[in-house]
Amino acid sequence: MADLSTDCLGLRGQRVLVTGAGGGIGRAVVERLLAAGSQVVAVDLPGVHCPAGTESIPTDLGCSAAVRQLAQAVGGADNPLHGLVHCAGITRDGVLWKLSDEDWDDVMRVNLSSSFYLLREMIPLMRERGGAITLISSINGERGKFGQGNYAASKAGLIGLARTAAREGGRFDIRVNVIAPGLIQTSMTKELPAKVTEAALQESVLGRLGTAEDVAGVALFLCSQLARHVTGQVLRVDGGQLIA
Ligand code: NAD
Repeated sequence: MADLSTDCLGLRGQRVLVTGAGGGIGRAVVERLLAAGSQVVAVDLPGVHCPAGTESIPTDLGCSAAVRQLAQAVGGADNPLHGLVHCAGITRDGVLWKLSDEDWDDVMRVNLSSSFYLLREMIPLMRERGGAITLISSINGERGKFGQGNYAASKAGLIGLARTAAREGGRFDIRVNVIAPGLIQTSMTKELPAKVTEAALQESVLGRLGTAEDVAGVALFLCSQLARHVTGQVLRVDGGQLIA
């Protein structure tokens, strides 16, 4: 057994791609990985600033051709890809009877289709040495949420997609897991009405709302060798908002 005392995470020098790296959760994941000694490829939309100390590759992940280009750039490097943490995501909230085709399509494209594009392109890059993939879903993908039909459907879809990828990737030692956060304080949630935030606080059995760092810690664990026997799982990071 490896000496876990020196580098129990096994992430030193490992190349990990983080999407949504300019956002709240993605940025926190990048910082954790950098602190663990990883080489980080940071992906976000063109014009969005990604953290220092990373290799930044601006990409619209909702575009299949752009994700293919991203994979070509990542695959050409000397150090093969070890991990992917897919944090990019959007909301376009509205009750179902007011939701436009555009709001439906945008959310499905950015949250769900992007995940398919990434899995299709990145799994082949990891097949030789194995790897760890983490998709960020939401507890609202499991329970549904008033005003979030598009978002909840996209986040539920991620779970089926990830479990399929876990089954298909297992023989190559590629692990695929999902994190389902509860309400996390980031730019995505800062405009929410106070009553929504208050309701989430009431649901939390820990009596607090989550931070981006709370999610990043679990993402780091899933990426690391500590989680070498964990795949096909959905880990809620929600302070017990959804205990079922
Ligand atoms: P955020 O808005 O701070 O960050 C999201 C990032 O994704 C942004 O930097 C944005 O530019 C990027 N992005 C959007 N569209 C993109 C595209 N087409 N291509 C590339 N990048 C794109 O949000 P966050 O709170 O950090 O959310 C991160 C993930 O966690 C999302 O998938 C979100 O759905 C999920 N999540 C968040 C919460 C929460 O309460 N904040 C709860 C559950 C799940």
